[in-house]
Amino acid sequence: MQHTGMVRSVDRLGRITIPKELCRVLGLLGSSRVVLSLENNGIVIRRYTEPCCLCGRADDTFEVDGKFYCSHCRKNPQAAAMEKFVGDFSDKYAEKKKED
Ligand SMILES: [Zn+2]
Repeated sequence: MQHTGMVRSVDRLGRITIPKELCRVLGLLGSSRVVLSLENNGIVIRRYTEPCCLCGRADDTFEVDGKFYCSHCRKNPQAAAMEKFVGDFSDKYAEKKKED
């Protein structure tokens, strides 16, 4: 973990301000969402990215017409959609088979 040397105070409501320099590095805009996690007795703040609507990957996604896609599915959208369709169909078939 890279220490930034930046020290901030927590206000009485538990809020902190993320330094502008860090926002710029992480690509955080005014409306960005973040994920907070506890790691090694500290709080880690990561930029939240929507998972790919086709494969579920949460890294390297981007928005197109309100849906998020990863770079892999962007390159092969038809193949990814077919994989998802086959996977969903297999899951439903397996559930139906359990019921019978
Ligand atoms: Zn994907």
